[in-house]
Amino acid sequence: MTERPNSLHASDIAHSMHPYTNMRAHEEKGPMIITKGDGVRVHDDQGKEYIEALAGLWSVAVGFSETRLADAAYEQLKRLPYYHSFAHKAHEPSIRLAEKLAEMAPEGMNRVFFTNSGSEANDTVVKMAWFLNNGLGRPEKKKFLARNKGYHGITIASGSLTGLPGNHKDFDLPAIPVTHLTCPHYWRWGENGESEAQFTARLLKELEDTIEREGPETIAAFIGEPVMGAGGVMLPPEGYWPGVEAICRKHDILLVSDEVINGFGRLGTTWGCQKMGFTPDILVTSKQLTSSYMPLAAIIVNDRVYDAIADNTAKLGTFGHGFTGSGHPVACAVGLENLAIIEERDLMGNAARLEEVFQSGLRSFADHPLVGEVRGTGLIAGLELAKNRETKESFAPAGSMAPRVVAACADEGLIVRAVYETVALCPPLIVTEADVAEIHARLGRALDRVLAEVKAEGLL
Ligand code: PMP
Repeated sequence: MTERPNSLHASDIAHSMHPYTNMRAHEEKGPMIITKGDGVRVHDDQGKEYIEALAGLWSVAVGFSETRLADAAYEQLKRLPYYHSFAHKAHEPSIRLAEKLAEMAPEGMNRVFFTNSGSEANDTVVKMAWFLNNGLGRPEKKKFLARNKGYHGITIASGSLTGLPGNHKDFDLPAIPVTHLTCPHYWRWGENGESEAQFTARLLKELEDTIEREGPETIAAFIGEPVMGAGGVMLPPEGYWPGVEAICRKHDILLVSDEVINGFGRLGTTWGCQKMGFTPDILVTSKQLTSSYMPLAAIIVNDRVYDAIADNTAKLGTFGHGFTGSGHPVACAVGLENLAIIEERDLMGNAARLEEVFQSGLRSFADHPLVGEVRGTGLIAGLELAKNRETKESFAPAGSMAPRVVAACADEGLIVRAVYETVALCPPLIVTEADVAEIHARLGRALDRVLAEVKAEGLL
């Protein structure tokens, strides 16, 4: 043990290994210590206030000071702080939350399996698909299809499904059989002269060709986020999802909708798949399920998937999978209360109502000299920065400009996130029109400030 550092700041540098952080840079720069939440705002240890326009990690629907969730956790901690669901055991919070999710889920999706995180949920999806196909006597049907820039987590299987080089390099991933298809983002990946409809057709042909090449009998599932989030907030082209669904059905390939960000009203609808026009076999949720006050994720499966898995458990005697924390009673109690608040306050409706003012305000930055494309739907959006909007050339060095804008936003009292060249926004569902106007104003000031610096440096 080293001597205890004399400030939180120094202690963090001395002892903490941060996720998604350049650790050497952190030793120089130190942490931004957040001490307190208040609605859509958080405060740091210097007393500075920020609008949290990424809702933490795309996740805090009800804001950062909802005492009803604290009370729900405390009541559950007093009544039954822990129990599990292994081997026929059960407790009320997980039963009630599974019932609630089945009620909210698309028709025919009635069974729920709980994990602690989105990554664990997607690992569980992979194992469910393998288990199911082994049970059905088709052990060769194991491969996954995913997309470049898709985000599904960072554990061994979910990290393999993720289509971002930074999550693979030097981690020896992918480690499961997965093929990453073209990112369905027309602005960046559409070819010169190609219409959006032609782009959709090309991606669907790529999917068909991949299935033909690999053999449909070898492919278990296709996984995707209805609207891609952590890879840079990318909306699919018109007709993409219904086309993917039809191809998956034709080849008996399970369709998995990863709604860890999209679920519970983020797009203004309960589920992202609703807005994008498809029905999955498996739906993965987390984040806004508890507003991230407690770690929890849920996999909702349709009756066909459930029956195939259940039949195999009957043959083998068990489903040899589950976490100590699966369906944790405190997390489930918080989830139930969180969903009750979302319903009572019509927060999904709030997202739908504010979509126009949130998105159109951001679209007003489409002509800003730093901005290449503004995109988004509901209460999620991305501003992709570009040196040249026409050629789509990014600023050099790659990935340097979005962090600059994000740092300027922080100076202005706005927390947003840099994803490669994109500045991502995803405010809590409780935002008001006044908050949205303030988000736009702070973002605008930050963009102008960076523009002035960039011009002074001769970068533009
Ligand atoms: N899927 C999606 C779509 C996500 O956005 C995330 C997290 N950003 C995950 C899975 C992984 O969730 P977790 O960080 O809880 O493991």
